[in-house]
Amino acid sequence: MPDQNFFAGVDLGGTKVNVTLLGEDGLFRISEMLESPSLVSEGHAVTLKRMEAALKEAVDRAGVEMRQVKAVGLDTPGPASVDGVLATQGPANFGTNVWSRFPIRQAFEDAIGLPTVYANDGNAAALHCHRVKFGRDASSSSMTAAVGTGLGGGIVVNGQLVVGRSGFAAETGHVVLPSNGLLEPGQPLPRCNCGREGDAESWASLTAIRNNLLPYYLQKNPSHPLWQVDDANGARSKQVLALGESGDPMARKIFEKQAIALAVLFDIAMQFLDLDAFFIGGGVMQTRPEFRDWFLAVVRRRLPLRDEQRGVTVEAAPDGDMAGARGAARLALESWRAH
Ligand SMILES: [Zn+2]
Repeated sequence: MPDQNFFAGVDLGGTKVNVTLLGEDGLFRISEMLESPSLVSEGHAVTLKRMEAALKEAVDRAGVEMRQVKAVGLDTPGPASVDGVLATQGPANFGTNVWSRFPIRQAFEDAIGLPTVYANDGNAAALHCHRVKFGRDASSSSMTAAVGTGLGGGIVVNGQLVVGRSGFAAETGHVVLPSNGLLEPGQPLPRCNCGREGDAESWASLTAIRNNLLPYYLQKNPSHPLWQVDDANGARSKQVLALGESGDPMARKIFEKQAIALAVLFDIAMQFLDLDAFFIGGGVMQTRPEFRDWFLAVVRRRLPLRDEQRGVTVEAAPDGDMAGARGAARLALESWRAH
């Protein structure tokens, strides 16, 4: 394939960088996660070198020459500006403030000498999910929610990512939800790292399990085996997903709350945007099919739709943790074509 053009997607995370390669024909040339340490705690220069090395490795792996790569899509945890200037507080999971206001898109473009476009990781994943289902159809709209340490995601309206004035649109994890139907008697209102109380992320994230849901439900279940687990570094909360998969009633109750919270969030989104599809990503979807289908069914059951909206789907996000890198590569290809 000497004449084909290629587009790279570089997904920079708090611990790993994952790279993929997309041909101009729309086919991905790397079928699995291609991860290496991102070393973000060691500062910009070290991490930029790591990203560059990871890009070269991906190009080698795909049997492509670097000169065939025409553009790069970069995604990182947000918040960040449309042009990839990280927000003042820096990405929460980088665990260091040296990334505050760092113009990472420009810095990476300068380092590799290739046109580089930027999206935050939630938006990149949302673009990938949307294109897998709808292609370039300009009449369809969707929302993606990824349940991880936080609640990330993005919104595509009429085939275009919604990024907003400053790049901070579609931060749907910080939409405050009505607490009726969510809050149990005696349960404290959950608080998010952003400072809001009762927003979607304060219910539907690993942080929510650790800070609110697990402490509340454990105290109601004094004989639960998790009491025997040493809780150093949130060890108990990390076991809740496996317990949920195996059918543990308390863990299922916790994930039922998360599914209801997502349904409430999706209902709010429907009123604004009348979407075609919702994609759910993150650990809750990378589970046994029985658990995944149960979780999706709770969301669907709790999402009130009009008769005319019955075709709206709630489904697992495709390609798991590769969605970010793949969406970034798509962004690079689409932006290259547009110029
Ligand atoms: Zn929040």
